[in-house]
Order: sequence, then structure tokens, then C-alpha cells
Amino acid sequence: MIPIVHHPAYVAPAPARSTYRWNKNGLIRDLLRAEGDRLAWHEPEPMPRAWLEAVHDPDYVDEVLTAAVPAMKTRRIGFPVTPEVAARARVVPGGTWLAAQLALRHGFAANTAGGSHHALAATGAGYCVFNDLALAAVRLIEEGTVERLVVVDCDVHQGDGTAALLAGRPGIATYSIHAEKNFPARKARSTCDVALPDGVDDEAYLATLAQTLTPFLAEHRPQLVLYQAGVDPFAGDRLGRLSLSLDGLVARERLVARLTQGVPLASTVGGGYGDDALEIARRHVTAILTLGAAIALR
Ligand SMILES: [Zn+2]
Repeated sequence: MIPIVHHPAYVAPAPARSTYRWNKNGLIRDLLRAEGDRLAWHEPEPMPRAWLEAVHDPDYVDEVLTAAVPAMKTRRIGFPVTPEVAARARVVPGGTWLAAQLALRHGFAANTAGGSHHALAATGAGYCVFNDLALAAVRLIEEGTVERLVVVDCDVHQGDGTAALLAGRPGIATYSIHAEKNFPARKARSTCDVALPDGVDDEAYLATLAQTLTPFLAEHRPQLVLYQAGVDPFAGDRLGRLSLSLDGLVARERLVARLTQGVPLASTVGGGYGDDALEIARRHVTAILTLGAAIALR
């Protein structure tokens, strides 16, 4: 059975003045529920405050948890942090951490939210409040769960927050393959950045991914992979600039599974944008099920 991490708080009601698709996580849950016995469901705990503060500025943590984020940061995030959004922001990193624990036990696990890779130490950004990838990575290393891990980020946008928050942390390396001209305008420095020109198609994308991820994994020899499986490199994505087909996205998950073979992998959702939320949820669910089928579970 594929371990799936989900929490009811992932499906937060949309705050007013929000351009983010809030029903995406509920649709992902519904589509996965239809898979029945193939999946094993797990509910995460909220990330303890001390672990949030191991990565984020304590003042910012306080602003989020009391739903008192200043207007300037609210604009950067893209929606207001209500008490419901704050509760969600705390369970999503708990979910990525739990998915990592389950992946270490079973080979693979998927968080049905997360991939909030733009969040920085003292502010959220680009629809991200807390950085679940950085939070889970730091906690896993500091707790001694693993000695070496990598974050592999295949979202079409650079994982700038993750790169900045994890830079210089022993035992952690970051990889990001993204569209160079896309958000964020000013890029951070990941351990390995692969900047792609606009319009890259399946063949070029998969070849570049294999050429760059293979030496990265060989160099850093991770005991765990945290994988940001954003589906926004899809050609029809509203905020992407690349031209991957649906088959190309499936081939990407198979390739990541093959290149990381034998290393436990925990996936998060990441970006995926457009008017049809159900189609986007389908792309995320396809990613999860493809990884689950391609990775040998124990
Ligand atoms: Zn994205």
C-alpha cells in the first residue's frame, strides 16, 4: 500500500482576496480516496513551534500563529493568513516530516500538500507561508534520523526559499530544475541549479534532468530524498513557461524514481495552476500514483 499523508486542515476555506486555488487539496484527497485499498492514510501532527523556529524567524512564526501577518508580507504571500490558514501552515510541514518518516520505513510516501519552496526565514512568498521542505529537512538532520538528505525540486519555479534556508546546513544539499525567466525574478543559489530556457519540451527536459540529477545524487549520496513534485512545467499551466506534456510529467516521475532507486523518497505536491482545479488535482494524483508504482514498497 502507498503511504499517503493528509490532514483535514489541508483543505482550508479560501480567505477573501485570494487568487490561490484553495480547493486543490480537497480534490486531491477525493481522487486518492477513489483508489481504495491501494493506499494507507496517515494524519500528521502540527509542527512544534520550536521546530518552526529552527528555520523561520521567531517573530514571523508568531505573526503567522497569531494570524497577525503585516500587510507587506501578506502581499508577498498572495493571500491573508487567517487562523485557518495558520493552522494549515503548521500541519503541512508536520506532514512532510511524517512523509519522510514513512518513506524511510516503506521506501516511498506522499504528502498531499506542501512543497512551499518560496517561504523565507522572515516572510512567506508566492503562496507559501512556512517552508515545509526546509523545516522537515532541518528537523530530520537535527534529530539524527538521517545524516545526509537532499531536496530535489522539479517545480517550474526555482526553490529559492528552500535554497536560502538550507544553504550551509551540514548534511543537506538542494537541487532545483526550473524555467530561468519564471518567478522568482531574483534567484537564490541552490547546491545545484538547472535553469531552463522557455518552451523546453519532454525530450530536452528529461535528458537535462538525467544529466544533472545523476551526478548530484552521486556526489551527495543521500539517505533520503525530499521531492517537490510540482506539476507546473506542464505546457498548459498558467504560471509555467515550459512545454511538458502529460506523458512527459509521468515520464519525469518514473525518471526521478529510477535515478533515486534504493533511496527512500518523500514527495510533496508543489505548484500547478489553471482554471480547472480538477485537472490540476489529477496531475498531482498521477504524480503520486506514478511514484508509488515505480518505487518498490516494503
Ligand atoms: Zn511553481
